[in-house]
Amino acid sequence: CSSTTPITATMFPGDGIGPEIAESVKQVFTTAGVPINWEEHYVSTEIDPRTQSFLTWESLESVRRNKVGLKGPMATPIGKGHRSLNLTLRKELNLYANVRPCYSLPGYKTRYDDVNLITIRENTEGEYSGLEHQVVRGVVESLKIITRQASLRVAEYAFHYAKTHGRERVSAIHKANIMQKTDGLFLKCCREVAEKYPEITYEEVVIDNCCMMLVKNPALFDVLVMPNLYGDIISDLCAGLVGGLGLTPSCNIGEDGVALAEAVHGSAPDIAGKNLANPTALLLSGVMMLRHLKLNEQAEQIHSAIINTIAEGKYRTADLGGTSTTTEFTKAICDHL
Ligand code: NAD
Repeated sequence: CSSTTPITATMFPGDGIGPEIAESVKQVFTTAGVPINWEEHYVSTEIDPRTQSFLTWESLESVRRNKVGLKGPMATPIGKGHRSLNLTLRKELNLYANVRPCYSLPGYKTRYDDVNLITIRENTEGEYSGLEHQVVRGVVESLKIITRQASLRVAEYAFHYAKTHGRERVSAIHKANIMQKTDGLFLKCCREVAEKYPEITYEEVVIDNCCMMLVKNPALFDVLVMPNLYGDIISDLCAGLVGGLGLTPSCNIGEDGVALAEAVHGSAPDIAGKNLANPTALLLSGVMMLRHLKLNEQAEQIHSAIINTIAEGKYRTADLGGTSTTTEFTKAICDHL
């Protein structure tokens, strides 16, 4: 479709169903003529002392160099003395915002037909700062860290996203009535940024009320921005509104323009190696990556091919009530292209 100079992007196929769905992405991208060369990196079987995790230094360097990548699911190895893979990626690449678009897929019926929202989760601090300890026997303490710098950064990203994507409203989700200092600071930063974007409506919604509103009428929301833990929970809740984790893409935004797109689901060990996985979430994450690279034409083509294949209903994987294998579903998308 394009004669543009090829772009090099890092690919982490990941564990479990990862290599199967990564293969699907590669096939669909090739069929669509996407000018991308994949630099593939696998999770190592040994801990790299330079990263203290199963991710090698070379893998991280690849993302830093290419500034763009696609990540399949990674199983968290059990054991001590190493860092979680996702945590390593977030910290080392400073992936400060997790962006998840959540919209109703035409042709795939769920309880709601009109979901079209974006969750933006602060990805580096809050309750996930890893600061937990035992005070005395039977009493433990966990520290929630909120900083002005990280709150301003994610708020700025949310408003900029809203403005550049034709969105009208940003809702900051919080519990500042109870967590007055931490969530209070988060809100203060959101308000400061909101003032710079008078064309975007700004509102504040308490997290419990937000959950109630989301399940009652998700169309009430547009862009939601929130601290780490709330974002973790709300983004999965939103995935449930449109058909589950197999359909939900995401993209992690880092400083220096790094973008690492990833499916939100795990490695699905129960169906790994059986040609049963639904590649939609990773494919749609790939589409987010293409939009980030401004390869909008190919992004739209692939997006339509996925939507049309699902809407037609002839080829669907088991999680969507069908009987197709991963390869049959992938071939149907390629045929649409
Ligand atoms: P999971 O998402 O792997 O699986 C939950 C259920 O959803 C399973 O029944 C699975 O078969 C199904 N499922 C998930 N993705 C699917 C797809 N694309 N197509 C069809 N069905 C799909 O969650 P889990 O079982 O809790 O976790 C398994 C492993 O994945 C763990 O090691 C966990 O740490 C890891 N994990 C990684 C990430 C990540 O890399 N971002 C996220 C979540 C879990």
